[in-house]
Amino acid sequence: MKMKEYIIDIDQERKEILKKYKQLIALLRNRATQEQKREIRKAFNLAVLGHKDMRRKSGEPYIYHPIEVARIVVADIGLGATATICALLHDLVEDTDYTLKDVEKLFGSNVAKIIDGLTKIDDVMDMQTPSLQAENFRKILMTLSDDVRVILIKLADRLHNMRTLESMPRDKQLKIASETAFLYAPLAHRLGLYSFKTELDDLSMKYLEPEVFQNISRQISESKEERDLFIKAFTQPIDKILEKEGLEFEIVSRVKSIRSIWNKMRKKGVPFEEVYDLFAIRIIVDSPVEREKVDCWKVYTVVTSLYRPNPDRLRDWISIPKANGYESLHTTVMSSAGKWVEVQIRSRRMDEIAEKGYAAHWKYKNLSHADQKFEAGVDEWLEKIRDILKSDEITALDFLSEIKSNLFTDEIFVFTPKGEMKTMPKGSTVIDFAYTVHTELGNSCIGAKVNYSLMPIKHVLKSGDQVEVITSKVQKPRADWLDFVITSKARNRINNALKIDKKTQTEEGRLRFVKYLSENNMSYSEELLQDISQRIGFKDKNDFLYAFNNDEISFLDLKRSFEAEKPKKMSFVDYITLRPLINLMSNTKNVDEAINLQMKKDPTAMVLDENIQEVNYVIADCCNPLAGDPVVGFIKDSNLIKIHRTTCKVAISKMSQHGNLIVKAKWKNKEKVSILTGLRVTGIDTMGLMKRIFDVISTELKINVRSVEFETSEGSFTGTVYLYLHELEVLMILMEKLKKLDGVDKVIRINSYKK
Ligand code: MN
Repeated sequence: MKMKEYIIDIDQERKEILKKYKQLIALLRNRATQEQKREIRKAFNLAVLGHKDMRRKSGEPYIYHPIEVARIVVADIGLGATATICALLHDLVEDTDYTLKDVEKLFGSNVAKIIDGLTKIDDVMDMQTPSLQAENFRKILMTLSDDVRVILIKLADRLHNMRTLESMPRDKQLKIASETAFLYAPLAHRLGLYSFKTELDDLSMKYLEPEVFQNISRQISESKEERDLFIKAFTQPIDKILEKEGLEFEIVSRVKSIRSIWNKMRKKGVPFEEVYDLFAIRIIVDSPVEREKVDCWKVYTVVTSLYRPNPDRLRDWISIPKANGYESLHTTVMSSAGKWVEVQIRSRRMDEIAEKGYAAHWKYKNLSHADQKFEAGVDEWLEKIRDILKSDEITALDFLSEIKSNLFTDEIFVFTPKGEMKTMPKGSTVIDFAYTVHTELGNSCIGAKVNYSLMPIKHVLKSGDQVEVITSKVQKPRADWLDFVITSKARNRINNALKIDKKTQTEEGRLRFVKYLSENNMSYSEELLQDISQRIGFKDKNDFLYAFNNDEISFLDLKRSFEAEKPKKMSFVDYITLRPLINLMSNTKNVDEAINLQMKKDPTAMVLDENIQEVNYVIADCCNPLAGDPVVGFIKDSNLIKIHRTTCKVAISKMSQHGNLIVKAKWKNKEKVSILTGLRVTGIDTMGLMKRIFDVISTELKINVRSVEFETSEGSFTGTVYLYLHELEVLMILMEKLKKLDGVDKVIRINSYKK
């Protein structure tokens, strides 16, 4: 952004400075004694002198800033003479040659102490320690601010700096805006300075998330006309009845802060149009103090007789005000247009307190004449703020509640579907998040919906993401997850699960191995196990058992290892008769037809069933046939047959070249053999699609899933699912069902993949 050019005109500036000063004094008319006013004049003169050669980044004389801070302190916070003096001098010690000693000599130790506190807060902020936690901030604030005025003046200072942030360089803008979002806005909220909070929130967002800010501002203004019509229709009946009741009142509508709208959008994962409490209707009754509560409830009755209230959303801060002094009656009602509307009901007095904090109290306490009472009253209020700051109920989280990640660039903030916030290191993935929520969730995670889009487990999360973890009962932690998790919790849990998994698998492997031996007339012994493990190439017998349990050991190898040692004890039955199909291709060009023809001719084809492993055949990984697929076998060596689908390109080329190596094969028992099969599902990324796909696979058809990967880009998605299937029929049913899902475009069987 380009800076406005500032043209210096000393005379004009001098007039302007005096004008601003006079406006400030006018505000203090009833709050300062003559003596105090002399002190204020002294402070003003000193500040003008001290800052006389300084200018702000905008080009304006620096003194505009302390005067404006003093004006905010008096007009918007309601402080008195001491605070005015301190506000005028707040940058003096830090930015000029004057020392704290000078200030003390001229204005006494009280003022000097406050100035000292203000200077120290700046020092803390300048440390820029990213690891400085919220709790530390609070402690520092507490020790610095023996006098709470330090914090209030600092807030005014910050508000003015935020209002004039435009002229600062980008890096300064980001630093100041982050601090504001992180510390000052929550602080203002805590102190009941609502209009401060709202303005600080929105101003910080304007710099931290300029696109979101502009976008929401634009949508607010674009929807204004429609909103105004809606509000008019909504308030007219209320207006009429209250009029009849003879109440003095005002109905106003307030669009909520851009920050709070954005928070709602993120928390609920909804677009702008679906934020129902975009604005609130405020009904302010002008009733005397003794009647204000009764009148507020009267208004409540009128509103809720016209519109049905949501009983869960009644907030009565009239009977019991908030700790920071906020008094108001909130209800949410259903409008005739079918939309929820928040209605705030309060008296004029309550409204002013809500906007300005406790400062507004004094107006209603008959203290508004110039005497020591004003300062005494302020002291009483400040004491109360001290209590608020000190109380245990203010936790670090309160300070963190509104923050953005910008201050802690190495952390992100992610939301659960219920809106609970999780703090995670930057670079965390879906699987990290799942483990952060719960170990079981991590162990069974197959992906997640991130802001309603399907994402694979290794997807890297961003601040503000809302993440719904998707699980599957058949999912198990895998070693390759360790390549992309970054939290130590996830790493530990995965390692643990893998260890446990390996242990149980090893034990299962042992049982299966014992059974296998006895089926082959051999008896199990530790020595034999050790022996065979080594012969097959495993140093550790447990590794062998694990591999055995996962069917990673070829029965051929095993058989050979036995034969080498005890050839006579082994008895493998050949279940099939191998009959080479000679000259198959000479009859016809169509392979399927050729095979079918041959099948009919010769019914004693190779039979594939549950004992399949014992006849040493392998399923070809170029086409991965399923029970039910037409298959054909190729003799690999004297004892091994490779099974291909008859449509497989590799098989076709082999058949044409090595007809003598072909054997017919067909499936016997469909249920017992489960074979890995891949599907590629493509389509449009609609809400909940991934879940529906899983419902079909896991819940409806109860198919075991080995792995899943979903990639989405620009609204379209590609899902790759690997399943363990028994037979072709199930695959066909599955593919049909998937094709019928809304959003699914194509379902393709993957022929070739690595196991
Ligand atoms: Mn300042």
